[in-house]
Amino acid sequence: MSSTVTRWRTEAYQRLHAKIAAVVGDKTAKAFDKLDIRTVGDLLQHVPRRYMAGTELSDLADLQPGEEVAVLAEVARTQAHAMQGGQRGRGARGRLEAWITNGRHGRLNLTFFGQPKLIDYWEKQLHQGTRGIFAGKVGVFHDQLQLSHPDFVMLDEHGRVVGGSKANEAMAEVSRADLIGIYPATAKLRTWNIAESANLALEFFEGADDPLPASVRDRAGVLELTEAYRAVHQPRTKPEAARGLERLKFDEAFAIGLAMARRKALARSHGSVPRPRRADGLLDAFDGSLPFSLTLGQRQVSDQIFADLAQPHPMQRLLQGEVGSGKTVVAMRAMLGVIDAGGQAAFLAPTEVLATQHYQTITKMLGELATAGTLDAPEHATQVVLITGSMPAARKREALLAAASGEAGIVIGTHALLSDQVQFAELGLVVVDEQHRFGVEQRAALGAKATSQPHLLVMTATPIPRTVAMTSFGDLETSVLREIPAGRSEVSTVVVDTIAAPAWVDRAWQRIVEEVKQGRQAYVVCTRISISDVLGYDGLEVVPDDQEEAPKTPAIAVEELYGDLTQDGGPLSSIRVEMLHGRLPAEQKDDVMRRYAAGEIDVLISTTVIEVGVDVPNASMMVICDADRFGISQLHQLRGRIGRGEHPGVCLLFSSSDPMSQAAERLSEVAATRDGFRLAEADLRLRREGDVLGADQSGRRSSLRLLRVLRDQELIASAREIADGCIADDPEIEDPGLADIVDKIESPEWLERA
Ligand code: ADP
Ligand code: MG
Repeated sequence: MSSTVTRWRTEAYQRLHAKIAAVVGDKTAKAFDKLDIRTVGDLLQHVPRRYMAGTELSDLADLQPGEEVAVLAEVARTQAHAMQGGQRGRGARGRLEAWITNGRHGRLNLTFFGQPKLIDYWEKQLHQGTRGIFAGKVGVFHDQLQLSHPDFVMLDEHGRVVGGSKANEAMAEVSRADLIGIYPATAKLRTWNIAESANLALEFFEGADDPLPASVRDRAGVLELTEAYRAVHQPRTKPEAARGLERLKFDEAFAIGLAMARRKALARSHGSVPRPRRADGLLDAFDGSLPFSLTLGQRQVSDQIFADLAQPHPMQRLLQGEVGSGKTVVAMRAMLGVIDAGGQAAFLAPTEVLATQHYQTITKMLGELATAGTLDAPEHATQVVLITGSMPAARKREALLAAASGEAGIVIGTHALLSDQVQFAELGLVVVDEQHRFGVEQRAALGAKATSQPHLLVMTATPIPRTVAMTSFGDLETSVLREIPAGRSEVSTVVVDTIAAPAWVDRAWQRIVEEVKQGRQAYVVCTRISISDVLGYDGLEVVPDDQEEAPKTPAIAVEELYGDLTQDGGPLSSIRVEMLHGRLPAEQKDDVMRRYAAGEIDVLISTTVIEVGVDVPNASMMVICDADRFGISQLHQLRGRIGRGEHPGVCLLFSSSDPMSQAAERLSEVAATRDGFRLAEADLRLRREGDVLGADQSGRRSSLRLLRVLRDQELIASAREIADGCIADDPEIEDPGLADIVDKIESPEWLERA
């Protein structure tokens, strides 16, 4: 986009945003597209996965499956196999196997397929006793480490390349360097092609001044940018490469820090009506009516919130707390405080079902304090209204009117509250529950509804490690509710290997019957509704993290399992079982939930629709079928449905996955702890790098390339501190380098890419 090119203020940003075609040619540029590399900056940012010394023998014993490697080794033996016929009529094909060694540890198998002529050619090249450099991805075949179709060049006794086609020369060029960087590559773009291109990009960039002010570089102790790129792409030593990488990582952390610091400063610069806490009002009446005393955490967080609300600029606070940690009570106290101070509160939930549940919980907790407008209403009473897309027109009109007139102190709803139809007389506070489905834009839309900015409280039950919070929600202050209110019970979690121990499955159903006989209730959760559904997943994402782990057996489905368990003589035939899933009509869903809550149903066989918000303290047992197909946080949420009352809970995770798989590791983490923060960190650790930030709350994917939120915690924190300082010194961001950095991170192209 040419407009992109001209709007940058610094020469560095101009050059970094030049299309790579200008540097490497159209054909190569096209090949780079696959790696999501389009500009000179993208290319310079594409750093080697690892470095190896050009002269050192790679330790074959250290290779890990999945790694891209280049090894210097000697051919020990070759063996050609003829293959008959060939598939799809492509003529005869043969197979060549070779074994290479470094003379000490281990050997590596190389396998090539091709027409007999090629096989002959390769076999001659791979002459026993000669050395070569072999590059490819380490695979496993028949328990042996293997490179399938590696790229290779053979070396003569002086270490020079034999032959000399173009690719060979490029590779040799790279191999003469002191350190060889091994780049993430594709079939068409080999690591040495990338090295060459990076060198061209480096030449193109050289001479541009560093966009990062020298003062910032000094504080951070990082290299100048050109130096850093050179260190990364043409290092002489590994520490030098590491220093270069440090600078590039700092840039990522700093850009986010700067953008967040600025958003926060911007929010602060808006005026907001202070809503100081007032004694003897609705809030005090509510506190007096609570059947329990607040936990210490609830009191502390409430105090932080009341302090924020008393300020003349909007509160921007994220409240994190486990399922059941009592966030709703904290939110209610904030809302009541605002009502006491003459404002209204909007409470946003991600779905209509949840909005309706919140409406019920909140009106119930408020009791007569929510009866304003009726004859017996107590002095400080207010009104609570629900606004959803599907409610009857007449009721909706009434609710809208109550919001617009200011009679309704609390207005509960979904995104519908963001529509223009909904007017508030005096919107003072917005509470967003389960932030994941609300984006920054939506927050902004709601803010636009009030003449001055409303205060904002965002709540999430998914614990977010500190540095993730810093990168994703760095414009918000955070509060955490760590304790779970008294009256909660232990939940023991056991992984049941349904293949190795099928008897446990029957035992599980028996156990459900026993729980029911004790007066308890249970949940059985499946990933899909019916086996005829190809996907059929209901509710939220189901996360088999990677393709390799694609489950082999078909997933258990609600309808079929219900049939099996409740048929005559079936294990649950003697108790009251119902199904619950997203395809049931809304009334039927509500009816089933209501009857379950009332204890008229013993067991629910459901999809993940029960994941959030459902609160039935009598439920003590949960079986999660195909638990290996769920992600850690989802399992944690699901399990949060039991152990909510006085009865200890049991959660059984059915799994058919290999005990050595990553899925199995996820399950053992879930079984090991109920600490949501520990699980969130485990989740980060176990997910693949690119997925770390995943799709963030507004559905876009993270653009972090080099930064790893767990490993780079310190860097992230210090970059943020430096960024805060920059914004304090230069609130309007007049420095051209800083302005380019912020523009880039806030630009839609940046947000949409990667
Ligand atoms: P969250 O929204 O964080 O999941 P809730 O606010 O819904 O948690 O609280 C879960 C349950 O715990 C509710 O039934 C609530 O009434 C109860 N609860 C909240 N705070 C306390 C407390 N301090 N002591 C006892 N029970 C509490
Ligand atoms: Mg809640």
